[in-house]
Amino acid sequence: MEQWANQRPALARAVVTGAAGFIGSHLVESLLADGTTVVGVDRRAPGPDSVAAANLGGVLGDPNFTLITADVRTCPLTAIFRQADAVFHLAALPGVRDSWGERFTEYASCNIFATERVVAACEDARVPRLVYASSSSIYGTSSHATREVIAPNPASPYAVSKLAGEQLCLAHAGRARSELTAVALRLFTVYGPRQRPDMLIGRALTAALGGPELTLYGDGSHTRDFTYVGDVVRAAIAAATRRIGTTVLNVGAGVSTSVLDVLSAVEELTGHAVPVTRLPAQAGDVDATLADRSQAAALLDWAPRTTLIQGIAHQLSYLTADSLRP
Ligand code: NAD
Repeated sequence: MEQWANQRPALARAVVTGAAGFIGSHLVESLLADGTTVVGVDRRAPGPDSVAAANLGGVLGDPNFTLITADVRTCPLTAIFRQADAVFHLAALPGVRDSWGERFTEYASCNIFATERVVAACEDARVPRLVYASSSSIYGTSSHATREVIAPNPASPYAVSKLAGEQLCLAHAGRARSELTAVALRLFTVYGPRQRPDMLIGRALTAALGGPELTLYGDGSHTRDFTYVGDVVRAAIAAATRRIGTTVLNVGAGVSTSVLDVLSAVEELTGHAVPVTRLPAQAGDVDATLADRSQAAALLDWAPRTTLIQGIAHQLSYLTADSLRP
């Protein structure tokens, strides 16, 4: 019995917003594999040849999975969340570069306004646990391992929007009468099969396999804490099931790797050079990110299991299998 002391029972029912996305689709698969009944909400419909259909292809026929195609800014969230043991809120507009200028209105509505709706609906529906996908971008640049207690220093409108979402979760859950506990996970550069097409590792692999040249912003000396999607999903499920209070946790592999080193790894694994077009670094691109993962280790009993080379190899297998599909 001792091993269960820190754990709530496994989730019977969960809702995943952003279910048709890169991380959301992996989370849905993992929850279903654990025996959880899952409702996914995403505004992308799984039509023929769609990203949603590709991401959710393995689970669309699963009787324990329901996909609601809807916008979290407007749909009846309280009704959707009723009876859920946990809500995982991943729906957001990701990406730093597009968040400047006119598109900020959409970033603000999808990442801030929608999060306020999600948290309020969790409270109305008496959901005990909300897990929010926050981002390492809220720290700005840092070459040393960042701890959760340091002052945020977001360097882009996207990062500001993710920090605002996180703060909304904490503000709601921190109210004296709130029955909700919220765990915001600051995710560090997630990669793996089905990675978003704007992200580095997928673009580098595609370029090495004969696709479009990789556009490299900056000289490639900038470093990231690349974190495998399967490890992120384990942390998210632990954040929903462990007996912990409202908090913020880093979810990063804790390893600093330069972009040039990633390109070398891709070249080694594919046996092909990565053709590169160089452009100057873009506003909001930070020089370095690195997680101190001691809090996630202590509270979630979490540690990454997949090395960067293993993870890139999984992503490569997915891409090559995908190109062979009829
Ligand atoms: P993704 O774009 O693949 O998935 C996001 C999903 O949210 C999409 O399917 C999109 O259709 C959906 N969505 C967006 N706005 C919506 C709305 N208003 N209503 C309904 N659905 C909506 O992105 P991802 O990389 O899987 O990221 C998932 C979450 O993790 C995001 O919150 C992102 O900010 C966060 N995050 C990702 C990373 C990373 O490296 N991928 C790092 C840090 C944080």
